[in-house]
Amino acid sequence: MTQSKRQVHVIGAGPAGLMAAERLAQAGLNIVVHERMPSVARKFLMAGRGGLNLTHSEPLDRFLTRYGPAQASVSRWIDAFTPADLTAWVEGLGQPTFVGSSGRVFPDAMKTSPLLRAWLARLEGLGVEIRTRSRWTGWRDGTLVFETPDGERLERPDAVVLALGGASWPRLGSDGAWKPWLEGAGVAVAPFRPANVGFDLAWSPLFRDRFAGQPLKGVAVTHGNKTARGEAMIARYGLEGGAIYALSAALRTSVETDGQADVRIDLKPDVAVGKLTDRLSKPRGKASLSNHLRKVVGLEPVAVALLYEVGPLPVSPRALAERIKAMPLTLKGVQGLERAISSAGGVALEGVDKRLMLTARPGVFVAGEMLDWEAPTGGYLLQASFASGVQAARGLMAWLDSRD
Ligand SMILES: Cc1cc2nc3c(=O)[nH]c(=O)nc-3n(C[C@H](O)[C@H](O)[C@H](O)COP(=O)(O)OP(=O)(O)OC[C@H]3O[C@@H](n4cnc5c(N)ncnc54)[C@H](O)[C@@H]3O)c2cc1C
Repeated sequence: MTQSKRQVHVIGAGPAGLMAAERLAQAGLNIVVHERMPSVARKFLMAGRGGLNLTHSEPLDRFLTRYGPAQASVSRWIDAFTPADLTAWVEGLGQPTFVGSSGRVFPDAMKTSPLLRAWLARLEGLGVEIRTRSRWTGWRDGTLVFETPDGERLERPDAVVLALGGASWPRLGSDGAWKPWLEGAGVAVAPFRPANVGFDLAWSPLFRDRFAGQPLKGVAVTHGNKTARGEAMIARYGLEGGAIYALSAALRTSVETDGQADVRIDLKPDVAVGKLTDRLSKPRGKASLSNHLRKVVGLEPVAVALLYEVGPLPVSPRALAERIKAMPLTLKGVQGLERAISSAGGVALEGVDKRLMLTARPGVFVAGEMLDWEAPTGGYLLQASFASGVQAARGLMAWLDSRD
């Protein structure tokens, strides 16, 4: 039988699944995509709400380090679909891109919807059939079982791509309910844990009510020997934002093992402590200390108030400068999966081969966030999700070829 007659079902219509579907359809296979929600790619659309960060422009060797212990596996996928390939693909869908000041890559439109519309039109042109409200519920005697509004439907395609997402923001569709079904089929699945998530911290009621929702911009957050620059956002429950997310894997481990995670926030990372001391030593006349801090150091009101959160301010300019350079805070808990940007855990990378085929289930390929890798925000999540879709599609075609 030729490949053009082969039928492949892709389960999960997020970035990973739709990318696999595109590549497989371009190769002439018959593709059906199943999505449990009434519409596709809800998390991808949500990712565009605050500016769709597609990938990052930093050198590839640095880029790949962002995947930590999963770097060796993720590098293979990103080899198959690099950040430059992703940018070209987005532009090929009529969406120009730009590199932001932090090196992050965005579509000019900033949001997902125009890109997704163009992509769905391309998939339709390729003959891809998308079935929404079609929820995969596992296997029965080797047959895929789907719950649909018309009742149960059984399918036995030539091969399958599972791209069911992780377990964060479950109301968008990826709820991780598949974990026991895969475990029942002999596949190792690591427990889900929140990633790129906020941490609990008991603010004083006064500080919380006045400053929740305000960012500490351009700070450096340190935990152990790791430092992340960027924004830390005051939340009612604690702290969130890019600099916190970048450290979230290490912070989560500390909270899990020690019950807390200590961080130090440098509110003026580009000014040395000596220089700050000089500035703070200037006579302040009748100005209050808060105003003096704003004027001579350039601290925003939220940063000044934060300095008071850990106790009365030291009197000596040197000690005050040291507090500004290393504000100690203790994080006590991790926010849940419901509001985490991504999840760690999922299908163990040891359980798939280089083609991303499950060793326990030949003919079943896995892509996207449902695999056990994690990365900080910065475009690394979408890049790896798209790239694994490409890798799974390539692997699947190679596997079909090897059987012919
Ligand atoms: C608020 C927010 C902002 C984000 N911003 C960014 C960003 O700017 N940059 C970035 O790189 N990443 C960002 N991400 C992360 C990024 O969106 C995800 O990493 C990416 O969507 C993962 O793609 P995926 O295809 O693996 O899974 P998903 O996008 O989760 O897609 C999986 C699909 O499978 C479907 N599904 C699940 N179970 C079943 C089933 N049993 N049967 C049928 N269908 C099923 C789900 O409904 C879902 O549509 C953000 C995430 C969130 C929540």
